[in-house]
Amino acid sequence: MCVFCKIVKKELPAKIVYEDDKVMAFHDINPQAPIHILIIPKEHIETVNDLQENHKELIGHIFLVAKKIAKELGVDEKGYRILINCNKDGGQEVYHIHFHFFAGKPLGPMICK
Ligand code: 5GP
Ligand code: ZN
Repeated sequence: MCVFCKIVKKELPAKIVYEDDKVMAFHDINPQAPIHILIIPKEHIETVNDLQENHKELIGHIFLVAKKIAKELGVDEKGYRILINCNKDGGQEVYHIHFHFFAGKPLGPMICK
């Protein structure tokens, strides 16, 4: 079982900030910004390449969860960044699709060096 599935099953601890029947959001263990949260579907989908037509509602729901988290953390007006890595060149390390949510400082331009 992958590390995020273990978090979903509460077999691994995480600082959970949101949970419903389809989605979970928790703080990244190695934050790259003052606020760094990972939003994941509970379903084990490995990468963006594995998304199917029947995932449309789930993906839309994840963005609405991101919006809710931004409001609750008070960063909705200042701003935030949502990022997904896909496969090796995209820098993906955990093969359970996840949406990085960064906030808490001016993040600057997106630079992919
Ligand atoms: P990726 O590089 O796959 O897009 O991002 C994976 C992210 O998962 C990294 O930012 C990493 O710090 C985070 N991460 C890896 N293992 C764990 C874990 O066990 N718990 C939490 N909360 N985050 C993790
Ligand atoms: Zn998984």
